[in-house]
Amino acid sequence: MSEEALSDSRPSVYPPIRKDREALRPRPNLFDYESECAAFSWDKARALLDGLPDGQGLNIAYEAVDRHASGAKGDKAALRWLGKAGERRDITYRELSEETSRFANALKCLGVEPGERVYVMMGRLPELYIAMLGALKAGCVASPLFSAFGPEPIAVRMQLGDGRVLVTTPRLYKRKVAGIRDQVPGLAHVLLVGEGEVEGDGLHRWDRTVEAASPQFTIRPTDPEDMALLHFTSGTTGRPKGAIHVHQAVVAHHVTGRYALDLHEDDVFWCTADPGWVTGTSYGIIAPLTNGVTSIVAEAEFDAETWFDILEQEKVSVWYTAPTAIRMMMRIGTDVAKGRDLSALRFMASVGEPLNPEAVVWGQEAFGMPFHDNWWQTETGGIMIANYAALDIRPGSMGRPMPGIEAAIVRKLDSGDVEVIDEPMVEGELALRRGWPSMMRGYLHEEERYRKSFAGDWYLTGDLAQRDSDGYFWFVGRADDVIKSAGHLIGPFEVESALIEHPAVAEAAVIGKPDPTLGEMVKAFVTLRPGHEASEAMRRELIGHARKKLGAAVAPKEIDFRENLPKTRSGKIMRRLLKARELGLPEGDISTLESDEK
Ligand code: ATP
Ligand code: MG
Repeated sequence: MSEEALSDSRPSVYPPIRKDREALRPRPNLFDYESECAAFSWDKARALLDGLPDGQGLNIAYEAVDRHASGAKGDKAALRWLGKAGERRDITYRELSEETSRFANALKCLGVEPGERVYVMMGRLPELYIAMLGALKAGCVASPLFSAFGPEPIAVRMQLGDGRVLVTTPRLYKRKVAGIRDQVPGLAHVLLVGEGEVEGDGLHRWDRTVEAASPQFTIRPTDPEDMALLHFTSGTTGRPKGAIHVHQAVVAHHVTGRYALDLHEDDVFWCTADPGWVTGTSYGIIAPLTNGVTSIVAEAEFDAETWFDILEQEKVSVWYTAPTAIRMMMRIGTDVAKGRDLSALRFMASVGEPLNPEAVVWGQEAFGMPFHDNWWQTETGGIMIANYAALDIRPGSMGRPMPGIEAAIVRKLDSGDVEVIDEPMVEGELALRRGWPSMMRGYLHEEERYRKSFAGDWYLTGDLAQRDSDGYFWFVGRADDVIKSAGHLIGPFEVESALIEHPAVAEAAVIGKPDPTLGEMVKAFVTLRPGHEASEAMRRELIGHARKKLGAAVAPKEIDFRENLPKTRSGKIMRRLLKARELGLPEGDISTLESDEK
């Protein structure tokens, strides 16, 4: 299929953004997609890492920290912490190695055994990174929790994972954990970071326990299949699941950091994801460190101006963020970006939600380079499909599979098997052939749910997509969100993207609402950019705009204006909640709801 035909069939597609390889800043290993895919094997990828001395296996913390800690590299900043009060502190690879060893020793002194679960719940403080990596060194399973969770979601997740240790702050403990201790009897130790007096059983102050421990620790032999991380999904579609990941996942973290984020040793990398979410671990902690870069840890929550300050002042060269943040930055305008010195920035990527073509192109306008969308899930542990530094971008597409990853569009058969759809631009479920190192090894205590995610060799993602004839994948919507209207299957993303192309629209969420004649009717919830008023005229204008772009059958029939859209803590629009409210149904699990509509 030619590009022209492609853009005809997709109403909101912008022309491809061509990459001029010569013009790209000379990078020693700017990778060539086709040849790298052809030459790739996971065994070769494994060989890029060191392994524990004497062939004692792969340990995430060793690959991320200890192997860089000796020699000159040891003095390099691994983490650059930017505190809320303006603090700026570098932690070198050597220091991080010592601190994580202290933490591992502290666990040992407390009698915590390998395999036991260590939960970490706090904002972006250096201790969070030390605890996560230190727990991995000790052979424990590290599990991050959003610090904004209330007591109930914390209790549920700690029960599910049989938490033995929790690392948090006195303030969070007092407000959220003290009252649920009786619901989590297995929680033996709580390590408290920072100032504040609290009382209770098994409480230990970080400064007395960890800082007092020895900075020498020998990591015990680690089996590549040893459980390492427990991550809860975002809960966008329902009750969150606890996905189990193993130590050899680090191979995927490492290579995806190179391929999809184009990490090079001299980079200053900033992943803005909350550490309570899988992106905050795979790319907020592990991948940048295994690749030996300096990683920015900014404590501040999102604020467009502050973020521009960080990009400029810290000379960030690679930036990994999410569509919500990009759309909020678009809201304050292109001029703000253009007024900054962002000359160090050379690569920008996005994950978590579909990135509207409008936002990809805005990157080009405001930053002089497009945003590179990539796709993955808690379950996949690492990036699976991406737009790459040296490959042309088709705005609105998630890109192409990583080397080593086989992705397909499949159709479910009555027999329970699946059939691969080879024909381009046909909608079906996105599936991945099993066998990469960072694939989840199970949903904790939910064997049946885990089993149902597979058909033969294929892992079924629950997302609907299309593949074009050149191998680019296009997100259609989550299988649960797809709208069936008058015989058409409508992906919410396409409708949302068309709405966002209108200059008045900041964000849009689209649901299917039961309708006696159509089956389902397309309904949109829209937030407006500053300077635009919600009115009947605006509603008519937006419906007219969408009809022109999408045709009457696909355009929304109803539009409601909102100040905000309900989002998960990882920044995903909760369409199911908008739908439940619209239909007067129970709201379901909203433990991960962060910002609500107004
Ligand atoms: P739950 O599984 O609990 O409902 P969730 O699926 O939102 O929550 P995550 O694992 O954090 O939990 O998110 C992965 C999902 O996010 C993907 O399955 C997909 O629906 C969406 N997603 C992530 N990146 C992209 C992207 N680049 N384009 C489109 N969708 C994306
Ligand atoms: Mg999911």
